Amino acid sequence: MSDDPRPVSPDTASVSLGHEADDHLGSLKPPIYETSTFVFKTAEEGKRFFEVALGLDEAREGEEFGYIYSRLDNPNLRVAEARLAVWEGADDALVFNSGMAAINTVFLTYLRPGDLILYSIPAYGGTAKILESLFTELGVTTRTFRSDADERDLGELIGDAPLAMVYVETPANPTNEIFDIALAGRVAHAHGARLVVDNTFLSPVWQRPLDHDADLVVHSATKYLGGHSDITAGAVCGGAEDIDELRHLRYRLGTTASPATAWMLTRSLETLRIRVEKQTENAIRIAAFLNDHSKVSSVNHLSLLETDEHRKRIYESQCLGPGAMISFEVVGGEEEAFRFLNAMKVVHLAVSLGGTESLASHPWTMSQATMAPETKRLIGVTPGLIRFSVGVEDSEDLIHDLEQALSHV
Ligand SMILES: *Cc1c(COP(=O)(O)O)cnc(C)c1O
Repeated sequence: MSDDPRPVSPDTASVSLGHEADDHLGSLKPPIYETSTFVFKTAEEGKRFFEVALGLDEAREGEEFGYIYSRLDNPNLRVAEARLAVWEGADDALVFNSGMAAINTVFLTYLRPGDLILYSIPAYGGTAKILESLFTELGVTTRTFRSDADERDLGELIGDAPLAMVYVETPANPTNEIFDIALAGRVAHAHGARLVVDNTFLSPVWQRPLDHDADLVVHSATKYLGGHSDITAGAVCGGAEDIDELRHLRYRLGTTASPATAWMLTRSLETLRIRVEKQTENAIRIAAFLNDHSKVSSVNHLSLLETDEHRKRIYESQCLGPGAMISFEVVGGEEEAFRFLNAMKVVHLAVSLGGTESLASHPWTMSQATMAPETKRLIGVTPGLIRFSVGVEDSEDLIHDLEQALSHV
């Protein structure tokens, strides 16, 4: 394969890469390696594995290594990681036991007391909260920016502080606000800092941040990558050196995914494109339906950007499709939103997103509950806002359910 100039496509990699049946008793699919530790053939072999795994020595050309201990690495992790790396166009990837485990491992690897991190808002509640609590207490300075900030605004925000990281979540939870990845990359790199992008909402099916100069991509693999609402997992994709550094800290922190989780993720990646395409097709129809409904005052979906030049330009430069996350405002406030949520029959009332089933939730009182009301309004979270993760169900069934639930508003 190595002298074949044609790069393997994610769709092909997803069903075969990183697993050789011959190495596993002819097993077509990767078996689950539920073992905490691995037996060394000799003490000398064990010594050598440790030397290289712990960074005491470099691997020699052609040298082969086995596994040591499952908190460090496991065959199921390697299969999922090899396939994820192809999806994001990365050298390598790492799988974690949740999205927050992945994100915190990145923060702990690259942020030190005195450093500045610039991050986009709105951001996932868990990400913003840990930056504003633990990392602030540890002496990291945080500053935030909105989507309309240009290069000059960001430069002024940085001033002469030692910038270590720009962190961008795009499109952002829950309003689908989009941020210019290439612009964030130019600012980060001009200051010798890394650009990290949370690509959870669009998945690599619709957005590949590394192609637009991001250094690392993080995922809550609990969402589209896992795709069936049955695992919590996280992932980081990036350059070989960064991934090696992150692998060391993952081992020390113990944020490694379990073999079973990695196996579930591997299985899910086989259908990633099929699921996300169907979910997106449904979402485009539903967004158009909601946009025309008299009980709905506004709809946030990337398929509805025609009238907004700034966002449309960003969308066209970095996104390949609009994704399947919608948020919309029902006419009225919390009471009307609750009437709608309580009347749904096909759509489930739950947080999380990206699974095969459609889920709706109320950001004002759920995911954004601890945020000050003024801040919520500033980022577009109002008492009437519904977050809707569109599943793979029949779109007519979903529209029928929304129609009848909206009649209760
Ligand atoms: C869910 C989510 C996270 C956190 O991931 P977990 O798997 O829940 O730890 C981070 N970023 C975004 C955008 C998310 O939606």
